[in-house]
Formats: sequence, C-alpha cells, structure tokens
Amino acid sequence: MSTARHRFPEIPIREASSPAPAPPQGRLAQMVEAFATRHRDKLAWIHVAMFLGFMALMIVPLFLPLPDDGATFYNNFPLFANFVIWGLWFPLVFVSVIFTGRSWCGLLCPLGACSEWANRIGLKRPVPAWVRWRGTPIVSFVVITVLAQTVDARGFPEGLAVVFGLTFVCAIALGLVYGRGRNKRAWCRHMCPIGLMLGVFSRIGAVQFAPKRPRSGGDAYTERGVCPTMIDINRKTESRHCIECFRCVNPEARAGLKLLLRRPGREVAEIRHNNPNSAEIWFLFLATGLSLGGFLWLILPQYEQLRQAVGAWAINNGWYWIGTPGPWWLMSVHPAGREVFTWLDFFMITGFMLACAVALSAVLTALTAVSSWAAGRLGADGNLRSRLVELAYAYMPVAMISLVIGLGGKLFATLPTIGLSAAWVTGIQAALFGISVVWSLSLGRRLLGIQGLAGPRRWAAMAPTAGAIGLIALAWWPAIFGL
Ligand code: SF4
Ligand code: SF4
Repeated sequence: MSTARHRFPEIPIREASSPAPAPPQGRLAQMVEAFATRHRDKLAWIHVAMFLGFMALMIVPLFLPLPDDGATFYNNFPLFANFVIWGLWFPLVFVSVIFTGRSWCGLLCPLGACSEWANRIGLKRPVPAWVRWRGTPIVSFVVITVLAQTVDARGFPEGLAVVFGLTFVCAIALGLVYGRGRNKRAWCRHMCPIGLMLGVFSRIGAVQFAPKRPRSGGDAYTERGVCPTMIDINRKTESRHCIECFRCVNPEARAGLKLLLRRPGREVAEIRHNNPNSAEIWFLFLATGLSLGGFLWLILPQYEQLRQAVGAWAINNGWYWIGTPGPWWLMSVHPAGREVFTWLDFFMITGFMLACAVALSAVLTALTAVSSWAAGRLGADGNLRSRLVELAYAYMPVAMISLVIGLGGKLFATLPTIGLSAAWVTGIQAALFGISVVWSLSLGRRLLGIQGLAGPRRWAAMAPTAGAIGLIALAWWPAIFGL
C-alpha cells in the first residue's frame, strides 16, 4: 500500500474551508473592483473635468475663423476639436465596449452626469410609457444620425454644436422631469442614441456585472433601487443597460453585483439566457443601413443624378422654395465654407439614408428569416420568431464595424496625416471588416448550435445568413477600396 502511495507525485490537499484561488482574470476583476469602489467619490471631479473639456471642444471653435486651406489639426484649434471628437472619441469609445463595456458612460460621460445632476433637483416623476417604449432610443438614434449629416456635424463646428447641444438639452430636460428616487438617468436608459449603441454592443464585450445572489425571473425594471439606469440588480442577466457606475458593487458585501471578465461574444452566443429582444435587432439592421446610406450619398454618382432629377421635377411643378437654404439648425448653411444645403439636399439626404436603412433591414430580415425557417425544418428548437431574433444577433460584429467605418471615418481619414500610407489605411479597414465578418459567421454558427443543429444541417441553415453578412461586406466595398 505504502509503495503504491508513493508512485505518484503528491497532490496538495486544501482545507475544505479555504477559498479556491481566483483565476488570473478573476484577480484582475477583483483589483479593478477594489480600485473603483475606493475612488468612487472622485468620479464627480472627473465628470466636471470632462464637462469643461467637452464644452471647450464644442463652443470655442464657434468663435474662431474657418481654417485656412493648409491648416491641420496640429496648428488649428477647430480642426483639433473636430479630430478629437470624430477621429478619436467616437471610434475609440465605440471600440472600447469590447474591452471595457460601457465604462465611458459610467466613468467619463459628462452628458449622463448632467442628466443625473438634473435628476437630483428635479421633479422625479415616474418615467412615462412613451419614454420607456423600446423603440424610443431607436427613433432618437435615427433622428440624431440623420441630423448629424444634414447639419454636417463632422465638417463644421456649428453642426457639432447643434447635435451635441440638442442631446445635452434633452438629457438635462429628461433628468429634470423623470426618474423617481435619487440619481436616476432616464435619458441614459431610454433615449440616448450613443447609449443605445454602446449598450447593445457592450453585449459582445469582455466585461459583465453579475449578481452575487441572482434572483430568478429574468431582467426587471425598477425605479426604486440603487441603479441609475433602473436595473433590478439581483435579476440582471444582460449587459446592455449597465453603465458600470460601480454603485451596486462592494467587494466586502455578500450581496450586490460583482465584476466579471468573460470571453468577448459569450453573452451574445448564449443570448437566449440573456434577455434577447427584437428592438435590438431592429437597431442593428437600421443602424447598419443608416451608416451605409450616410456614407454612400457622399460618393455615389447615382445619388447626384437622382438629386438632379428630383430637383428638376420639383422646379417644373413650381416648388421653387426647394432650391433655397433652410434654417442653420436643420441643415448646413456655410457660404464661406463653400457648403450650402437647400431643402432639396435636406430631403434627399434624409430620404436616401432612411431608404438605405429600410431596404437593408428588409433584406437582412428576409435572409435571416429564411435561415431560421430552414433551421426549424432541420430540427432546431423554438419557434420561427425566437430563432430569428436569436440568430440576428450574429450580425453584431459586422454592424459594429459598419458604424465605426461609416460614422467614425474621420479616424481613418486622419491616419495619413500621421504618416500612414493609403495602402495601410485600406489594409487596417479591410482587416477590421474581415475580423468582424469571421466573428459574425462564428457567432451565427454557435447560435444555431445552441438551437440544436450540428454538422451539415447547421451550415445549411446558416447559408442565407452568411449570404447577408457577405452582402453587408460587399456594400462597404466602396468605402474601403473605393469605387
Ligand atoms: S447613455 Fe449617453 S448620456 Fe448616458 S452616459 Fe452613456 S453616452 Fe452619456
Ligand atoms: S447594475 Fe450596478 S454598475 Fe450597472 S449601472 Fe446599475 S448600479 Fe451601476
């Protein structure tokens, strides 16, 4: 007996009561938790600094002359402000959700902080049904995205001030009126277009706040708890509405939430356990089409031909007003900057972007529905609608990169000024898009696997969705490789 015992290396036996050591990612999460909770009281100062910084970037360029032809963001403040907002802030905040979730919202955003400050002194009325409607943030996103194009928020500081000024006013107004309890952020939960993007895409991120003592029943909404975005924290299963404010986290407590690090994409691959909903799918489809439309109207010769034809038809019918410029808060009117939009431009840009959004959504819905129908015939579980909603989450990576390339194109446009050749910029964009396509295909495969399909049946059901993903890639071809 004793010889047999010594034939194998001894395995150290831990006392039953001693806790298992945390894995490396667990230790990192614990360190972040401890740091964030220790310094939570300093967040207000960060918000004040961010508010002042944002105000400077938004307001100072309004009082400076237009840049000369040879000016760059190194030597011209309006160009610098434009680069910081559109070239750095927008794409980087967006991509950061993969690594740190909605940390921008909880830790840095001055807009959300203003809304919360307003809530402290406001009326604290219950959030009404029209604000809580799932389509409200989508409408807000569509309005702001189209307005950013018609006022040319990327080209002129006045446009930027209109878009951010409007969102600031709405965020403060909503905070002043709605949200019971203290420190609520009805704007961040229900209406912020940026929050919608960051929230939906945070589902593929590596960060999660999970209840230490989860309660069954799935996600629930409450205006009474500690959470500023009205999450019933013990029933939390989805990341979307969590702005990572750390208010529900106390490393010493046995209840509340804890920070977990996870493999990116896991929440989406297991979406059926994480509150899937069709509103997010509509957002993914519409946002992809909208950003595509916002890019294509600038480069397609067919858009210009259509514009000329519509203009000629309107003039022939006596609608002369259509050739005159409208108000500055609705469209870009910059004679000195050689850009004056007329009502024709306003309606054409708006119509074209909305048409692209609706057309692409219809195609993606149809192809995903064919996949889901085929999956059902091949033995997948659930009904057609539930399969469709689940599978549509596979588009998340390509939708995200569509928004980065379409709406955050300033970053790529600026890369040559820091010495990168055009070929490198094209390579980076193509690589990002390639990764997103592969990721989307892999997610689709996993989602169909969870629905119960394997082997060739899984690939057969996946084929129409793979075609749709390829179609999105093809649509972005001109943006990446040129016409
Ligand atoms: S939801 Fe919008 S306003 Fe709120 S913190 Fe996030 S980005 Fe800022
Ligand atoms: S769940 Fe916790 S960390 Fe997330 S927003 Fe609510 S209170 Fe903040």
